[in-house]
Amino acid sequence: MTDMLTPVLTDMWDVERSWTLAAYTAKGGYQGLDKAFGMSQDAVIEAVKDSGLRGRGGAGFPTGMKWSFIPQDNPKPKYLVVNADESEPGTCKDIPLMMGNPHVLVEGVIISSYAIRANKAFIYIRGEVLHVIRRVQAAVEEAYAAGHLGKDIHGSGYDLDIVVHAGAGAYICGEETALLEGLEGRRGQPRLRPPFPAVAGLYASPTVINNVESIASVPSIIANGAAWFASMGTEKSKGYGIFSLSGHVKKPGQYEAPLGITLRELLDLAGGIREGHDLKFWTPGGSSTPLLTAEHLDIPLDFEGVGAAGSMLGTRALQIFDETVCVVRAVLRWTEFYKHESCGKCTPCREGTWWLVQTLARLEKGEGSEADLDLLLDQCDNILGRSFCALGDGATSPISSSIKYFRDEYLAHLTHGGCPFDHARSTAWA
Ligand code: NAD
Ligand code: SF4
Repeated sequence: MTDMLTPVLTDMWDVERSWTLAAYTAKGGYQGLDKAFGMSQDAVIEAVKDSGLRGRGGAGFPTGMKWSFIPQDNPKPKYLVVNADESEPGTCKDIPLMMGNPHVLVEGVIISSYAIRANKAFIYIRGEVLHVIRRVQAAVEEAYAAGHLGKDIHGSGYDLDIVVHAGAGAYICGEETALLEGLEGRRGQPRLRPPFPAVAGLYASPTVINNVESIASVPSIIANGAAWFASMGTEKSKGYGIFSLSGHVKKPGQYEAPLGITLRELLDLAGGIREGHDLKFWTPGGSSTPLLTAEHLDIPLDFEGVGAAGSMLGTRALQIFDETVCVVRAVLRWTEFYKHESCGKCTPCREGTWWLVQTLARLEKGEGSEADLDLLLDQCDNILGRSFCALGDGATSPISSSIKYFRDEYLAHLTHGGCPFDHARSTAWA
């Protein structure tokens, strides 16, 4: 089964002191850099386009295409910003990547900045993870000392400075324009798009914002070639990605595998569902992506396959729940999260997430009525597509999908006058 894994970004995580420059260089690190400097900037962009790499932060926008949107006739400075504000519930791939191999991110930042002709890059890390901020900062300092950063890198004539920035702890700052607001020192709330950051981003200058895993994938694409990367994955979802499995699996963790792998195959790698239990529901890409069930074990985990099943690949955060979990309670917990994290800028999300929690809490306690299910769907309908950013839309995903697959379980709360699950077992999960 392990031959299904493609350890590229994760291959060093078990190496002793894997986060040091010495360990990274011993594994051939920073070789992609020299190759990139031997290419024109446009050729680097073409290579990333040809590889088929799509954004690993969740949305799957083609990375090379995003880079090519940077207007080179604009005299303003260009910036690269790495979105390391990983906060989607269940998502735990960028933080272990930055802990296990920060230099692959630094090398990726240098190549990507070179390609878009940026001389300043920012790595925006969520403020709560001080150990990650320290580790990435240490890697940046090592790279400066070794001549991989600063003036005239490797004698190429190219200059780059990297700033590691600590976020202030809000889920919304993972939304790219709220992140830019935060980076500029303002309250983190989304900006209207368009203009997209590629045209007017940080300080109103052309800015590429990419997820950690996207940027960390660039050195191996340049070192091994676009065709190598494109040979993995599926027709429209090329390459590999880190799948994070959590919840009721025997061996939770990060599994790096080609896009298109199925949950059944990943569960085999992870030892299966815990002994004596069965899969009940799961999220393909964090709680913002509609829930799926055991009937979806064999769908290909790529952008198209998960989309065809009525959900989204998102951040490949596979949260696995067995039959002991009350889906209504799980959905209530996620909805409380969205209510708490709503930035308050737009009415559908600010007010709507509050109403969702009220209605769900009533149902979970068995105090509502069947009409509350239609009310919930109506509330979702008034948020989805009417919110200013993706947070509001995402808040509706677990609700509408859980009603689609588990309507009877909602109704059972009403007939039981409360949660029909064995209380001890459902609170053991909590
Ligand atoms: P989006 O599809 O609107 O944009 C994706 C990227 O493509 C952005 O960088 C955007 O600037 C760029 N883009 C899109 N159209 C463009 C155009 N015409 N011109 C130039 N650039 C363009 O998605 P989004 O709202 O930025 O992000 C939503 C995703 O975020 C969700 O799919 C979700 O999975 C993910 N997410 C991730 C986390 C996390 O912790 N990693 C948390 C919450 C949500
Ligand atoms: Fe803020 Fe929510 Fe509106 Fe996004 S959808 S702008 S998080 S209130």
